[in-house]
Formats: sequence, structure tokens, C-alpha cells
Amino acid sequence: MMVIDITNLKNIAIEFGCKFVENASMKDYTTFKTGGNCPLLISPNSVSALSEILKECNNSNIPYTTLGNGSNVLVSDDGIDGIVIHIADDLNKITLLDETTIFCEAGVKLGTLCNFASENSLTGLEFAFGIPGSVGGAVFMNAGAYGGEMKDVVTKVYHVDKAGNEGLISGDNLAFGYRTSAYEHNGYIITGIELSLTKGNQAEIKEKMAELLGKRKDKQPLEYPSAGSTFKRPEGYFAGALIEECGLKGNQLGGARVSEKHAGFIINYDNATSTDILNLIDFVKETVENEKGVLLTPEVRILR
Ligand SMILES: Cc1cc2nc3c(=O)[nH]c(=O)nc-3n(C[C@H](O)[C@H](O)[C@H](O)COP(=O)(O)OP(=O)(O)OC[C@H]3O[C@@H](n4cnc5c(N)ncnc54)[C@H](O)[C@@H]3O)c2cc1C
Repeated sequence: MMVIDITNLKNIAIEFGCKFVENASMKDYTTFKTGGNCPLLISPNSVSALSEILKECNNSNIPYTTLGNGSNVLVSDDGIDGIVIHIADDLNKITLLDETTIFCEAGVKLGTLCNFASENSLTGLEFAFGIPGSVGGAVFMNAGAYGGEMKDVVTKVYHVDKAGNEGLISGDNLAFGYRTSAYEHNGYIITGIELSLTKGNQAEIKEKMAELLGKRKDKQPLEYPSAGSTFKRPEGYFAGALIEECGLKGNQLGGARVSEKHAGFIINYDNATSTDILNLIDFVKETVENEKGVLLTPEVRILR
């Protein structure tokens, strides 16, 4: 582990009134509930605070990892080298800019944004109801479900770059693809987005949201910690079906298990470590490649 001097960062956090935790356990910040510690986790409460934090990281060569709701990450048991910038509850504004356009800060939970859209009778975001991420994480990943993706509704994304400068990316420059966006490559931190939705019927919107949530509860092992689908959908196949056909449902290494309810999910069944989960990911990949000739790629992002 590299040794970093966090004194200036703590002072910035105190000056701006941002929450911070020293030697934070990543188990408390990830839905897998695994992983080691990081020397400092800061939750910026404004874009200007974030900008100062990034300037200090840039000037003092301190590596940073961005974390949203931690619902698509697996943190190494050795922890994270560098600080974690946690974009969560403290960046939480949502406003209606006009009849069909919403501005939303990156720390807002997707579910909260979906409810805001439905309260304003706006349709187009129902697909996202039940995805347990932050708005920033959902844009970074171009999260999607049931035929919809963030790219269908997001028009502008506001960020702070590595040097602490504010900026925005819009339209095609967002480079959305299957579970990817421009932010996967530029390392900037998303602070807010604009979404363009359509006026709809509130009862129908609510009904759709409830229907999709019901499907999740029926099909997904929500009673166990996980990071959702472990693997990306390989072209022409479904990862879960391939894994099931290889007889891997219920397969367990250490405390990590291939869910019996949905083979596409690896779950933290019994006090798993991140190493258990990584070993099971490798085992599943190897088995599916040997038996089916299909290479699975993790959707879950490994942080170290
Ligand atoms: C039960 C369950 C069901 C799920 N269902 C779905 C589903 O249906 N569809 C789907 O697409 N996903 C699904 N997921 C995965 C996950 O919820 C989504 O990928 C979600 O969008 C991740 O958001 P997050 O805030 O948790 O991101 P995190 O897990 O915190 O981070 C994910 C990546 O985004 C980066 N990141 C996060 N916030 C920012 C930011 N503000 N600026 C820049 N980079 C950032 C991180 O560095 C990391 O690389 C599911 C997960 C679970 C646990």
C-alpha cells in the first residue's frame, strides 16, 4: 500500500463541511459487503468542494477512486490504494428545468429520480426503477434494464475533470455503449445530469414501475448481498442461461455462491471475501469457456 498524506484533503473537507471517514471499511460502502479499507473516504457536498479536492489530488499526486452507491463494484480485500471520492447523498438536488427536462445531481439514487419523474407525470425512466445505483454510477455504466438504458434519456452530463475544472459533455460525445460511456475512459467525476423525458399518464407510469420492481423481486436474489449481474451479456447469449446450462447454480467457493435463483448473480452467501468472489468469477468464466466456447466478461468493476 502506498503512503499518502491526507492532511490537506481533511482540511478541505473540514473547510467545506464535507463528511469524511479515515480508514474507511469498503464493506460499508458496497452492496457486495466485502473489501478492505481505504485511508480516506470523502463525500463532497458541492461541486466547488469536489473541485478543490481534485485540485489537491492533482497537485499532490494522490490517486482517487470514484464511488457512487457501490452497487457495481468489487473492492479488493487489500483495500484501495489512494482516496475514495464518494458521490452520494450529499449531492442530492433534483429540479424540473421545464415541462419535460429534469436536472439531477449525481448522488441522487436512481429510485428517487424515478419517483420524481413519476410525480411529475414524466415517462421514459420506468426501466431504471429498482436498479440500486446513484445517478452518477448509472450514467458511467449506462445502466439499463427491460429494454431501456440511461442513454435513451440523458442529454447532458456535468463533471469535474482530474485537474478540478468543471465541464460538461452532451449528445454523441457521451459515447454511450453497452454498459459504458465516455466517463469510463476520461476519469472525470460526474456531478449532475440533464434528462429529457415525455409527458405521460401518471397511473400508467406508476403501474409500469411497480410491475418491473415485481419482476426483479421474483427473479433476483435480492435477499443476499451482490452487485447484480456479474457478467455482461455476451452477444447472442444470456450469461445466466450459459452458467445454468453448465450446472453451476449453487456452486460455492468460500462464502461466494452462484445464486440458485438467478445463475447470472454471484452472491455473498456466507461472509464471503472479495477473493472468494474473484475466484468464483474465474471458475465460472473458465467453465463456461471450456464447455460452451463463450468468453464471459465481468460487468462488475474491480477496484483496488
Ligand atoms: C441487485 C442489483 C440489481 C442490479 N440491476 C441492474 C440492472 O438491472 N441494470 C444495470 O445496468 N445494472 C444493475 N445493477 C448494477 C448497478 O446497480 C448499476 O451498474 C448502477 O448503475 C451502478 O451505480 P452505482 O452508483 O452503484 O455505481 P458504483 O458501483 O459506485 O460505481 C460503478 C462505476 O461507476 C463509477 N462511478 C460511480 N459514480 C461516479 C460518478 N459520479 N462519476 C464518475 N464515475 C462514477 C465508479 O468509479 C465505478 O467504476 C444491479 C446491482 C444490484 C446490486
